[in-house]
Amino acid sequence: MPNPLSKLIPYVVGEFPKPFLNLYEKMVIPKDTNGKTIKESLWKAYEFGTVRHQGQKRRSGKPYFGDHCLQVANILAKWKMDHITVMAGLLHDTLEDTDTTLKDLENCFGEDITRLVDGVTKLGNIEFSNQQEKQAENFMKLLLSVAKDLRVIIIKFADRLHNMQTIEYMSKLKQRQIARETNDIYVPLAHRLGMASVKWELEDWVLQTLHKKSHLEIDSKLKSTNRQRSRYINQVISPIKEELKKYQIQVDIYGRPKSHSSIYRKMIARGKTFEEIYDLFAIRIVVEKVEQCYLTLGIIHQVYSPIQERFKDFIAMPKSNGYQSIHTTLIGPRGHMVEIQIRTREMEQTAEIGVAAHWRYKEGKTVSADLDSNVKWLRELVTILQNEFSDPKEFMNLLKIDLFDDEIFVFTPKGDLIQLPLNACPIDFAFQIHSQVGLSCLGAKVNHKVVPLNTILKNGDMVEILTSKNQQPSYGWLKFVTTSKARTNISRFLWRIEKKESVKIGTDILERTLRKLKQFKLLKTIKESYEICGYKSTEALLGAIGNGSITVRNIFKKIRSLNENVLEEAKEESTENFIDFARSSAKGIKLQGIKNLMVNFGKCCSPIPGDDMIGFITRGRGITVHQTSCKSLPLLSEDSDRLIPVEWDVSRKDLFAVQIKIVCEDRKGRLKEMTECIAGENINITSVDAKVKDGVGISLFVIKVNNLRQLDRLIRKLNKIDGIDYVERTG
Ligand code: MN
Repeated sequence: MPNPLSKLIPYVVGEFPKPFLNLYEKMVIPKDTNGKTIKESLWKAYEFGTVRHQGQKRRSGKPYFGDHCLQVANILAKWKMDHITVMAGLLHDTLEDTDTTLKDLENCFGEDITRLVDGVTKLGNIEFSNQQEKQAENFMKLLLSVAKDLRVIIIKFADRLHNMQTIEYMSKLKQRQIARETNDIYVPLAHRLGMASVKWELEDWVLQTLHKKSHLEIDSKLKSTNRQRSRYINQVISPIKEELKKYQIQVDIYGRPKSHSSIYRKMIARGKTFEEIYDLFAIRIVVEKVEQCYLTLGIIHQVYSPIQERFKDFIAMPKSNGYQSIHTTLIGPRGHMVEIQIRTREMEQTAEIGVAAHWRYKEGKTVSADLDSNVKWLRELVTILQNEFSDPKEFMNLLKIDLFDDEIFVFTPKGDLIQLPLNACPIDFAFQIHSQVGLSCLGAKVNHKVVPLNTILKNGDMVEILTSKNQQPSYGWLKFVTTSKARTNISRFLWRIEKKESVKIGTDILERTLRKLKQFKLLKTIKESYEICGYKSTEALLGAIGNGSITVRNIFKKIRSLNENVLEEAKEESTENFIDFARSSAKGIKLQGIKNLMVNFGKCCSPIPGDDMIGFITRGRGITVHQTSCKSLPLLSEDSDRLIPVEWDVSRKDLFAVQIKIVCEDRKGRLKEMTECIAGENINITSVDAKVKDGVGISLFVIKVNNLRQLDRLIRKLNKIDGIDYVERTG
């Protein structure tokens, strides 16, 4: 009969309950700590949890503490987490599901454990709704909270894993909900944190819940082909073993099947049947030291021939989630491809459990301090999140891309290694170096050659960024950047500039239109009418006028519907010639050369300095500048409110493309004469297109000029050449 005292003070009597002992035996106690003290405090947590959850049952009918909290702690112990984390695991639901307070926990277990339990509780309270925006917002919160202590998320993973393992007791609806949330939030995060085994297990549970049939099918096929597979694996392995023996390398070598979910993905992604997938397994070789990895690699490549392109050295270049291993694919017996992974024991552990390995007990010491470098991406993410501007939806999309893409490795001119996602371009690289480098990125050299900024970087490229103080990001960049860091920085920059410019332009349009309508006295009324128009402030209203989402006339209509007297006399004189209007009030917004990102040049008429110009405010893309004589400008419509006088403000160095057409008789050497004439004016030619039709030569030149005067002078000179019929500006 058990000693009655053991229920109260088992550590004195020495009779602990079996489940408790099982947990304790799983834990690794570091040599420099007192095992007895740890056992005592672990018992304290065990007892506390038992008492607090007394009487609570799970849906399965089993006691809550013993069936859930203890199991979560068991998972954490299996992951060899430190005793603080295991204890917090035992207590992780006390704040949520019992009347325990923060104070209670702090008095009994101290600050560390309390903080962890509190963190897990807060995470549990975050609801991941189906609404993407909400989900993204909550995901940000989650990341911000885990950035403080990653052990919170590790406990949460243990909790989620156990909930998935026991998901069958939930209602069908709840099962699907939990499985989707696991798939959308926990799986990507586990991948990012390098928790590979957790990721696989979660993914398999998701597959089992959401695609039961496929899971069953894969499962039974794996089982039925098991013997055949083992035989083949042995065939591959034994010559390798023989060879390694000669070099006296101690290795663990075994074949492991790929997870159900990764087989499922291959079937879906490649549209194949189970039978058509050859790589159902990988062979893993685990050695003691790093140098043995390379020696082993050399030996294996002597036994079987490797496939060049499939060799990857993640030991020299670890993945950003900390994963290290050598991957090589060989041509095995009967010509089948076989994937081999070589790593050290330590890498093996890190690959299974990822960042959690840092809180693992190791020989002699407890917790590693080298966490920062491993969760660099997390810290970067947090910096992005803490900025005032971030669009949750956009963020979520990018995060997903970042999470699943493969990585490439490129170098700075100094030889520093930079990790980027697949398809990254030089701008991504520039922002990776520093946001300031990105913002002033003018051009790039890859392997010493100048390349376009949208060039896709490749593994091993050496990238050099050319910067200029006058350079600014443009909308175009957003089309080809890949990293969330670059995208967020560019968007934020454009958003700020656009907002500022829109307000400026909006103010200008408003004042001008009111003057035109002889209603300037209404300026104040309109500025105060932002609420009627559906905006939060005067600034927002002006910005909306500026970017074309509302016109002054629309505002009039809205005010008029509320107060008919105010605007009765507001008659329009819209037939006013806009060219006169443009000329009469030429002091307006200046164009700051072609670099101003809010300004585009109309392709229909490509104006150059000296031309009479007018700006047209497009919806959402700033101003497009046209020649005042351009036919594509609206003359009489309501849109004429969006026309705005502009004036050149260009530096001497700025060049503008212009097309000229030269018609002449067809004779030898005419092209040479023309190009010599153009070059004589110190003008660059961008392209030439010369044709002859019915004895008439027609040449189209695109040239770069500073201004109209220079162009006119050139045209005069060209006209003097013998045999030229006429020269005209086109486009
Ligand atoms: Mn729980």
